Amino acid sequence: MVRTHTLGFPRMGAHRELKFALEKHWRGEIGAAALEAVGAELRARHWSVQQAAALDAVAVGDFAFYDHVANHIQLLGCEPARFGFTGEEPELNRYFAMARGIDAGDHAHDSDCGCDENNASGRFALEMTKWFDTNYHYMVPEFRADTEFRLASQRLFDEVAQATLAGHKVKAVLLGPLSFLWLGKEKEAGFDRFNLLERLLPVYEQILHRLRMQGVEWVQIDEPILGLDLPDAWRHAFEPTYWRLARGGVKLLLATYFSPLADNLRLACQLPVAGLHVDALRAAEDLVGVADWLPSHKVLSLGIVDGRNIWRTDLDAALARLRPLVAKHGGELWLAPSCSLLHLPYSLQAEAGLDAELKSWLAFAVEKLSELRVLQAVLHGKESSVDAELLDSRSAVASRRGSPRVNRAAVAARLADAEPRADQRGSGFAARQQLQRRRFALPSLPTTTIGSFPQTADIRAARAAFKRGQLDEAQYRAKMQAEITLAVRKQEALGLDVLVHGEAERNDMVEYFGEQLDGFAFTANGWVQSYGSRCVKPPLIYGDVARPRAMTVDWTVYAQSLTRKPMKGMLTGPITILQWSFVRDDQARSTTARQIAWAIRDEVVDLERAGIGIIQIDEPAIREGLPLRHAGWKPYLAWATEAFRISASGVRDETQIHTHMCYSEFNDILPEIAAMDADVITIETSRSDMELLQGFGDFKYPNEIGPGVYDIHSPRVPTVQQMVALLEKAAHVIAPGQLWVNPDCGLKTRGWPETEQALANMVQAAKAVRATLAVPT
Ligand code: GLN
Ligand code: ZN
Repeated sequence: MVRTHTLGFPRMGAHRELKFALEKHWRGEIGAAALEAVGAELRARHWSVQQAAALDAVAVGDFAFYDHVANHIQLLGCEPARFGFTGEEPELNRYFAMARGIDAGDHAHDSDCGCDENNASGRFALEMTKWFDTNYHYMVPEFRADTEFRLASQRLFDEVAQATLAGHKVKAVLLGPLSFLWLGKEKEAGFDRFNLLERLLPVYEQILHRLRMQGVEWVQIDEPILGLDLPDAWRHAFEPTYWRLARGGVKLLLATYFSPLADNLRLACQLPVAGLHVDALRAAEDLVGVADWLPSHKVLSLGIVDGRNIWRTDLDAALARLRPLVAKHGGELWLAPSCSLLHLPYSLQAEAGLDAELKSWLAFAVEKLSELRVLQAVLHGKESSVDAELLDSRSAVASRRGSPRVNRAAVAARLADAEPRADQRGSGFAARQQLQRRRFALPSLPTTTIGSFPQTADIRAARAAFKRGQLDEAQYRAKMQAEITLAVRKQEALGLDVLVHGEAERNDMVEYFGEQLDGFAFTANGWVQSYGSRCVKPPLIYGDVARPRAMTVDWTVYAQSLTRKPMKGMLTGPITILQWSFVRDDQARSTTARQIAWAIRDEVVDLERAGIGIIQIDEPAIREGLPLRHAGWKPYLAWATEAFRISASGVRDETQIHTHMCYSEFNDILPEIAAMDADVITIETSRSDMELLQGFGDFKYPNEIGPGVYDIHSPRVPTVQQMVALLEKAAHVIAPGQLWVNPDCGLKTRGWPETEQALANMVQAAKAVRATLAVPT
């Protein structure tokens, strides 16, 4: 008997109904009851979809109004005391207060805004961080030595009741206690959140008991941290923890995903649970071991359909993988997506704009569920009942494999024929630096910005009108050129040394390039939750990537024509484009990265040829690509930095290559950042008060560096003194001759008034520090 289930389902709804309801609620346009009704309606619909796909049970507990970890904070009764809740506030109000902060004032306070007002009130939102290696962000639980837990929310049980009443068989979904603790953070020194486990477990016991009383037979308990390199104490805690939870009498399906179990494999197989879910895509190397080690009285759940990518499953290949495992395990088998479908768009049905061929290669959340049904039927020997689906799938797989849109000989040949030194600049940094100093004759501590200037409502309206055909090409060009002119004039008036064109024509730093590159496609409705109500629509990279024509040269040359100061060309790097897209599953990520790198290199070379002397290649996402297990870091960083160097190395020594990074700490990958060999790196540092920079100093970062001197996430204008202090701090760890002066990141989310004031202060700060430093030129 083969069963099917899903670890979770997208929450937003087919048309992002949840997003719109949430935002209405936050604007005060609908009350809590109306929002709850939308939630209930979406759950009901999503369960019906699961039922229609003949899943053995529907997943309950995966829904959340903001984030499932935030749900657990309420379920487990550990809302941080700093919010000062009396307990009288409605649960949903406390929930949104934690997720979004209280007293929003002039801007929405979040973990990012770093502004003092909000720190003073102590009611800024919970920190948000990436859920493993996905682009989904969860709310980080906060722990203190005195954190207590109690069963404090009925929401999960209400949802179980709702599903049961609707006639569904329920599988409840919980985040496991060890992963919950692991994903949180200690908020005071000298204490280890691991020690809270003893206090936490009784609440889990109560929850399981309650679920059993509600008639729930199976509970999926997610412990994705089994795919990480865990400290021994944490590993050893799994057995006693699950012995305790197993006593409750409800059947536990321990779910792992995203990464190989590796050294945790035997442990996972031996835990006293009724079943184990393994990610057959990301943990493919574990499968034989799991089939060997998992006792046959336990359920083996195989995540055989990719929950992280949008490709239609090759059903024959999946069956060929499944059959020997079924035989080996000998016990009950469940089929599922590799992980929750949270990370996929809802359904292909909303994609009228995609051509039929490309569409036939894809499967979003709804379609992935049907794939499970077909696999199940074949394994049950009812192949004839799914003949049509199998044929369809086979022809789609064959057409994709043979398509000249996917595999393009010229792209392959170019990569194969590349000379081995293609990722190296002509000379080493020292020689380049001399040539560049002579060429640009910049003052010491040169000032610049990261690329984008305020994206006003006016700019966005113009881009939208152009897209809808209400502005013609010439009108649009004139409008954008006017914006570029404005940005250049303002920068000249401010006295900045290296200018940018301002990125007015760009909707998004990845989409802008993807739209102009071969091998990319864009969906109309392929939204995926990023955090809260925020969704992203990642590009699909389906084929070999190449650049048919220049993408940024006209805008940049126009901008350069307006000024005698150097105009910095602005590109997005290969790894960031890769990270923020759905990528091919039929070739290594490293190959796709290298193809993008060559396409970007073409643009870099064209910019140089057009007279642009300074070119920035942004790589904010390079650190996010790090594999979850440490063993994978080195190989990843090797190809990632190589891809960057390929994109950057087609130019002469006199051409200055910048890169920019933000969003994370970089101290653990400094040698690799240095290996990118950019002439200048600008990084986000101001929020950590230059702490980050210490690492660059200790490491003796060899090239030039612009540590951000002000946080662009807040409209607050930093004073000259504040920035002088940061620069002096920076000059202690980095030789002044290597230092640049710039904000933390692009300014597109800011308004012009605060931007101009902040930059004026920044230029003044640079001048003040220049005067006090003896800098060799
Ligand atoms: N050049 C981009 C900008 O200024 C960089 C954005 C980023 O680093 N996220 O907006
Ligand atoms: Zn940035």
